[in-house]
Amino acid sequence: MKKQGLYKKMLNNAVVPILILGIAVTFLCYFRFTNTIYEQAKFDMINVAKAVMSSYDIEFPGDYHIKYRDDSTFDLYKGDAKITDVYEIVDQFADLSLSELSLIYMDMRVNTTFGRKTGKRLAGVSTNKHTSEQVLNEGEIAFYTNVPIDGHDYLVLYVPVENSDGSIVGMVEIARTVATMRRAVAKAVWPVMLVSLGGMAIAVFFSYRSTKEITSVLKKVQQFMNKVSGGNLQAELESSVLNRTDELGDISKSATAMQRSIRSFVETDPLTKLGNRRYINQQLEKIRDKARTSGLPYSLAIADIDFFKKVNDTYGHNAGDEVLKAVANVLKKSMQGKGFAGRWGGEEFILVFDKSGMYEAADHLWRVLEEIRAMVVSTEGFDIRVTMTFGVVDGTQSSIEEMVEGADEKLYYGKQNGRNRVVTEIENEEPEPEPEKE
Ligand code: GH3
Ligand code: MG
Ligand code: MG
Repeated sequence: MKKQGLYKKMLNNAVVPILILGIAVTFLCYFRFTNTIYEQAKFDMINVAKAVMSSYDIEFPGDYHIKYRDDSTFDLYKGDAKITDVYEIVDQFADLSLSELSLIYMDMRVNTTFGRKTGKRLAGVSTNKHTSEQVLNEGEIAFYTNVPIDGHDYLVLYVPVENSDGSIVGMVEIARTVATMRRAVAKAVWPVMLVSLGGMAIAVFFSYRSTKEITSVLKKVQQFMNKVSGGNLQAELESSVLNRTDELGDISKSATAMQRSIRSFVETDPLTKLGNRRYINQQLEKIRDKARTSGLPYSLAIADIDFFKKVNDTYGHNAGDEVLKAVANVLKKSMQGKGFAGRWGGEEFILVFDKSGMYEAADHLWRVLEEIRAMVVSTEGFDIRVTMTFGVVDGTQSSIEEMVEGADEKLYYGKQNGRNRVVTEIENEEPEPEPEKE
């Protein structure tokens, strides 16, 4: 199964709401504009209808009434004038207001502009029953938005027509094609749609970019963690990732902190807290590589506590441990700024001088030996003193094992020749003299 990456999920989370918002804004605008334009049209149409009524009143004073021609047909009169087939008023206002107009007696169109272009006016055609009831019985203005008439959709408004006694005798109908309105709405909505599309595009672009950035940083952290969990405790995380000031920076810092603590756990001797053999090898390699490029000297010493077995045998293993810790502390302190001390194993230590050669190192080690000799470890009710023997060699580009072997030979020579000393040369006759104290 293909896993759905964080990248896709985050992008979806960012983009989908923006798309929904964009669509919602566009629709909302469409409906608001439609509403506003229809309201405006309604207001306009009411005025036109009233103007039509006024024109009839001025032109033909008096009330509306009918005279039957026969049982089914009638003529409409206003005052004394017969106004059936008098189209001037409706035609004139229809032209002015870009609408169709009808004067309706009760529910029957009498003078209408519908069909005038084809020469077949819709006179004599009744209006919708529901409309007639609303306008004629209730005296209300009626407004409809999508009325199909003669093959077109219209906005249609009906205004009741009253006689002087207040009785409703008919309506003025005014109709506008919806197509014009729709064009007006589209014209108003287009810019909104463009702006919201542009906004969406910008938002999508930015969320795409930040999502990509976040996932690429996460990927780097993941690769780093993979290396660490695979045992590479020297793996490094890019500083651009580590220096981030956001949560990703925090995660990276935690990841490297975890690496450091695993490394110190793996590389530290639990008793003396000095670096162990693994640590010593690693550091030595680094120092050797540095010396190769710089050409500067370095040196290595191996140090072994004299007659340590006796310490254990005489005072017990716990006391022996205390002595090891005390010796380790002295060695560690003595190497500050000069290199480092590590526990090679048992009661053996390695000291690496990263800036000085064998003789300078030996001078220093004689002073360290003084300190060890002067040290009293008070434990388990005993005051314990020890001495140490050191073998020192110059650092070379040869293998670390070879260097340690060389130092070991000198240490052995020291053990054979009285212990409690620092050995730089193996001589056949005389053991090395202790330098004079200052
Ligand atoms: P030499 O002067 O020749 O070095 O004599 P030595 O007695 O120091 O050498 P040897 O190798 O015979 O004995 C080393 C002893 O160090 C034996 C071992 O029990 C003890 N030892 C090694 N590691 C530890 C430790 O962690 N704690 C304690 N208490 N003793 C340890
Ligand atoms: Mg030993
Ligand atoms: Mg020993």
